[in-house]
Amino acid sequence: SHQAQHNQALIDYRQKHLGKSLSLSYSEPLQMLRGDDVYLLDQWGQKYLDTCNNVAHVGHEHPTVVTAGQEQMAVLNTNSRYLHPAVVRFTEALLETLPAELSVVHLVNSGSEANELALRMAKACSGEQDVIALESGYHGNSNACIDISSYKFDGHGGHGAPQHTHIVPLPDTFRGLYRTPDAGAAYAGHVAQVIQQLETQGRRPAAFIAESIVSCGGQIELPDGFLQQVYQSVRAAGGVCIADEVQVGCGRIGSHFWAFEAHGVVPDILTIGKPIGNGHPLAVVVCTRKVADQFANGMEYFNTFGGNPVSATIGLAVLRVIKQQSLQQRALEVGDHLKQQLMAFSERFPLIKDVRGQGLFLGFELCDEQLQPAEKQAAYLANRMRELGILISTDGPDHNVIKIKPPMTMQIHHADELLQRLEQVFNETAMQA
Ligand code: PMP
Repeated sequence: SHQAQHNQALIDYRQKHLGKSLSLSYSEPLQMLRGDDVYLLDQWGQKYLDTCNNVAHVGHEHPTVVTAGQEQMAVLNTNSRYLHPAVVRFTEALLETLPAELSVVHLVNSGSEANELALRMAKACSGEQDVIALESGYHGNSNACIDISSYKFDGHGGHGAPQHTHIVPLPDTFRGLYRTPDAGAAYAGHVAQVIQQLETQGRRPAAFIAESIVSCGGQIELPDGFLQQVYQSVRAAGGVCIADEVQVGCGRIGSHFWAFEAHGVVPDILTIGKPIGNGHPLAVVVCTRKVADQFANGMEYFNTFGGNPVSATIGLAVLRVIKQQSLQQRALEVGDHLKQQLMAFSERFPLIKDVRGQGLFLGFELCDEQLQPAEKQAAYLANRMRELGILISTDGPDHNVIKIKPPMTMQIHHADELLQRLEQVFNETAMQA
C-alpha cells in the first residue's frame, strides 16, 4: 500500500544497519511521529488509541512534564556530585508515596539498571549469589538481569537457567500448576523447597525477585498469601526481597500506589522504571536503610546520568501530575469499568476464558474449550485492532493474553471506544473458537 511504501526506506535501512534482534510491531510497521495524551499519531496524522503503553503513564507528551524537562534542560544538566534541589525534591515526593521502611533512594536510567543495582545490593547484603525468580519473569536486558529472566533464557535463543538462578512455577491460578484461589501457599512452597535444596549444598538465597503483577507471564495476579509466605522464608534464610514494579507501579493498580501494598508486604528493595519518567529515561531503586548501609561498603556507586537535574525534575513533575489529576483514582474507576465489561464479554465470546488484573493493568486470555492457547486469534485481534485505530498487544508465554495498560489519563469514553472495537472484532469470523 501507499503507506507501506513510504515506510519501506526506513525498514530497509534498519535491516542493514540496526541490530537484527530488534523487532518491529505489526506485520506492516507504523511510523509514529507524535504523541498526544492517550493517542499516538502516525506520519499521516492518523490517530491511534494507545492501550498498551505504561511508559506514557500520565499521557503522551504531557505538557507539564514536557515543559519541566525543557526548562531544566535549558538551564543545567550535570551529575549528582553537585548539590541540586531537584534530586532532593524528587526523592522527597517519591518517599511520600512509600512505607517508612523504604527510605533510601538510588537514581538510575532504566529498569534494567535498577534491577542490576538491586541484585548487586542483594548480593552485597547476603554475601550470596543465588537468586530465586518466577517462571516467565522478565527483569531487564543486562547480563545479570537476563540471567534471572526466564522469559528470555527459556525462550528463543536462550540456554536455560544459569547455575545461580532458581526458577519457581508462575503462580498462575488460571492455567498454572495450582488453580484454586488459595493456591498461594502451594506456590510459595516451591520457594521453600529451593531454599532447602540450597541449604543442603551450604548455600543460601541472595534474593527473591518478582513483579507484583507478572506482566510478561501474561498479566498474572499473585494469589493471596504468596508474597507473605515467600518473603518470610527468604528472609529467614538471610535473603533480600525485591519487588520489581517497573511496570505496575505509580498508582496503576488503582487501589494502591504500589502493587506490593495489595499483598500486605514491604519489600527490602523496590525497583521503579518506565512510568516514573513518562518516556524520559529515569528509574529508581528504593531500599531499606539496612540494605543501603550494607551496600555502602566503601566502594563508591557512581552513575554518570543517574539523578541528573533534568531527570529528577521530570520525575517530580510526573509525581505531581499523578496527584493533581487524581490518576490513581482514575485508574481504579476506568479500570473497574473495563474489567467489568470484559467479564461481560467473556459470557458472550467463549474465546475469552479469563479476565484479570487490577486498575489499568489488565489482561484477558484467549483459549479454546480445552484451555489450549488461542495464539492465532490473539494475533489476529491485535492486527485488526490496529486497522481500527487501536494499539493493543499480546503477552504471556503462549502469546494468547491481550494486555491492557494504557496511559492513566484514559477516560471512560476512551475505554468504551476500545470495548466497542473489541466487540466488533470478536464478532468477525476469524475470531470464532
Ligand atoms: N522489569 C520489568 C518488569 C520490565 O517489564 C522491564 C522492561 N520491559 C524491565 C524490568 C527493564 O526495563 P528497561 O527496558 O527500562 O531496562
